[in-house]
Amino acid sequence: MHSQNPVFIPGPTNIPEALRRAVDMPTLDHRSGAFADILRPVLEGVKQVLKSDTAEVFIFPSTGSGGWETALTNTLSAGDKVLACRNGMFSQKWIDMCERHGLVVEVVEVEWGGGIPAARFEEILTADRAHEIKAVLATHNETATGVVSDIAAVRGAMDAASHPALLLVDGVSSIGSMDFQMDEWGVDVAVTGSQKGFMLPAGLAIVGFSPKAAAMVETASLPRWFFDIRDMRSGYAINGYPYTPPVGLLNGLKLSTEMLLDEGLDNVFKRHARIATGVRKAIAAWDMPLYAQSPELYSNSVSAIKTPEGFDANTIVALASEKYDTAFGAGLGAVAGKLFRIGHLGSLTDMMALSGIAVAEMCMKDLGLPVILGSGVAAAQEHYRTTA
Ligand SMILES: *Cc1c(COP(=O)(O)O)cnc(C)c1O
Repeated sequence: MHSQNPVFIPGPTNIPEALRRAVDMPTLDHRSGAFADILRPVLEGVKQVLKSDTAEVFIFPSTGSGGWETALTNTLSAGDKVLACRNGMFSQKWIDMCERHGLVVEVVEVEWGGGIPAARFEEILTADRAHEIKAVLATHNETATGVVSDIAAVRGAMDAASHPALLLVDGVSSIGSMDFQMDEWGVDVAVTGSQKGFMLPAGLAIVGFSPKAAAMVETASLPRWFFDIRDMRSGYAINGYPYTPPVGLLNGLKLSTEMLLDEGLDNVFKRHARIATGVRKAIAAWDMPLYAQSPELYSNSVSAIKTPEGFDANTIVALASEKYDTAFGAGLGAVAGKLFRIGHLGSLTDMMALSGIAVAEMCMKDLGLPVILGSGVAAAQEHYRTTA
């Protein structure tokens, strides 16, 4: 059944009408000047969203996962050592990708709900005097648990250890929703996709390379073809792609970056923070804990809500879908059944957030959880009513 209900999954996110129209366009010759009029502003707009003056932006027909592969294969060689923290399903998947590429991953295990332990990274990097670690991987926002990590602190740990490794950051569920400062934080490769903060359908891997990371492509020997940034760079030099570009999606991305930059990135982040705070106030009113262990880890793009011991959280997601035609996020991997997630990133208003909170309350009540109807809605209303 089709409905106009917004989704509350942490990606893909709701698509504003203007972006739907921008994506839906007639065939255009991707070797004509008309394509350059899309490509040029897209590359420039993404660079601004990344808050970078020096990044080289590449956009592949793919998803965020393809962005991970672009980051790894263009900078590393088989047998290279990388440092990563496992604190949820997405950091886990990126580690798995590294291992399948023959990289040696030093994994720092963190209880799910925790963030990247910068101090532990500093110890490991300081001890690595031979500089065997070639890259540090960081998942900025662990979408599976609603945990945002401090990337500036990870950079600080690398600098304190005077370590030359590259900093590769997964910003798939943060870029365009929460502050991300590629240059300021010394990020070497920033990875995202089209279907989260950019409010578009899935289909684009969006990556930014620092000059240092881009230079690594000459010596990195991991196999790559589709994701080789040199071929993409050659394509861009003549306003084209090494293969057929997804023109409609790129046209959507052109408008999406314009929308974000017109609103002002800092206003976009404030809007996300404000909506997220209302959702968290609702969750507190339900007297349910967030999965994120402490307030500085609370994500402004997704909240993961721990359900009581012995209760299957998946039943909330299933009932919301079947009875109320509303999508929430389920627990993934090790936290399946233990939590449900409310995505609050992308195109969202107070009114939309309130409707999601209201449906979550009905589901929990239907399933016998001790939630008082209207309690979360009232807490969020009070927040939205009194803040701008
Ligand atoms: C969604 C997501 C991904 C995966 O992106 P796909 O577009 O589904 O390939 C990776 N990392 C994080 C943090 C995500 O939220």
